[in-house]
Amino acid sequence: AIDFKFIRDNKDAVAANIKNRNSTANLELVLELYEKMLSLQKEVEQLRGERNAVANKMKGKLEPSERQKLIEEGKNLKEKLATLEEDLLRLTDELQQEAQCIPNMTHPDVPIGDEDCSILRKMVGRPHGFGYTVKDHLELGKELDLFDFDAAAEVSGSKFYYLKNEAVMLEMALVNWTLSEVMKRGFTPLTTPEIVRASVVEKCGFQPRAENTQVYNIAGSDQCLIGTAEIPLGALHMDSILSESSLPLKYVAYSHCFRTEAGAAGAATRGLYRVHQFSKVEMFVLCKPEDSDSYLEELIGIEEDLFTALGFHFKTLDMSSADLGAPAFRKYDVEAWMPGLGRYGEISSASNCTDYQSRRLGIRYRPELSPMNQKKAKNTPTQFVHTLNATACAVPRMIICLLENYQQEDGSVIIPEPLRPFMGGIESITYK
Ligand code: AMP
Repeated sequence: AIDFKFIRDNKDAVAANIKNRNSTANLELVLELYEKMLSLQKEVEQLRGERNAVANKMKGKLEPSERQKLIEEGKNLKEKLATLEEDLLRLTDELQQEAQCIPNMTHPDVPIGDEDCSILRKMVGRPHGFGYTVKDHLELGKELDLFDFDAAAEVSGSKFYYLKNEAVMLEMALVNWTLSEVMKRGFTPLTTPEIVRASVVEKCGFQPRAENTQVYNIAGSDQCLIGTAEIPLGALHMDSILSESSLPLKYVAYSHCFRTEAGAAGAATRGLYRVHQFSKVEMFVLCKPEDSDSYLEELIGIEEDLFTALGFHFKTLDMSSADLGAPAFRKYDVEAWMPGLGRYGEISSASNCTDYQSRRLGIRYRPELSPMNQKKAKNTPTQFVHTLNATACAVPRMIICLLENYQQEDGSVIIPEPLRPFMGGIESITYK
């Protein structure tokens, strides 16, 4: 349920927001289609009324000629109604398609502008000196026999990889350590379907049908591969009314992610940095509207704890309006120092999507009343929950950080303390 009334009643603010977010949404067209839909709905209602009136008249005693006239009238109305109902369906679908592009509104504290306007929230640690020439993860991976990009290119195409030897253990250790840390903070663990309906992807605010889509569509079906577990997590409670006492719901899921990376090119695509398939641990929260600002702080706090425990040097940014993506009301990114690449790279992000996804997915809750008002409970209006998502561990960039930050002068790589219990006792990666 996209809030068209809000869009119509706040046209100027919505138009300014679309501009601030560099969105291509066509507000004029959405409003035009909306008005058309309203008037067509009215017409359909009126015809239904007329058809019912004719049907009622037919119940009475009638002259044969009169009955015949009514039968004709009823037939005409039925045909007209069928055509209009079809038009209404088509129009509604077109309206939904256009309206999907309209982004969420923006938190008032979000800096307006391009990515370079993003505000530094926090800086943790500093780049540590090496005293010798550092290698990037590709060189380290080659020397330590951790990846095979060439075979993957033959088997799958570019931007795929095989992990080998300790890199496999490292992926498992990162996932298991992250899951256990996040579970300690009260999150319920899940694995999710990795193939979902295109309609579900759309309801989460992604555009599987767009020309240059990031989403892999499965040919000959209405299904897609997920780009993130945020999608099946968001849809877990689709079309339901939750009880207030069940909120917040906090989930942490492990899944693979598949992305076409259409349009991505250049240096930032080297090695593991930007690939078509990767593993990720994702946090997801459903909460009451008044609590979502504080859960965004909780989620970014968990991310910061995890990256600090792994000894990374990183900064947290309050992302600017143009960098938010359609569903987010506010987004914090974490960028970590990657010494081999010689720059900061995004390793995670946390977003408050307010009711953008829950409206489309139909996830509501019923506020509970005080005992005095219990009798009215059935009539209490339901409200949409707020949803938030945050990366706890996107494996490939974590492997880049680990290899590049923990490389030693002799070419080996030390495993940081927290991961060792999950690495079957491996403390460092050395030449084979
Ligand atoms: P996003 O869901 O786009 O916010 O991405 C979450 C995290 O996944 C990012 O911060 C990256 O660490 C990681 N990531 C996103 N896209 C890719 C990719 N193509 N290859 C590897 N890691 C990625």
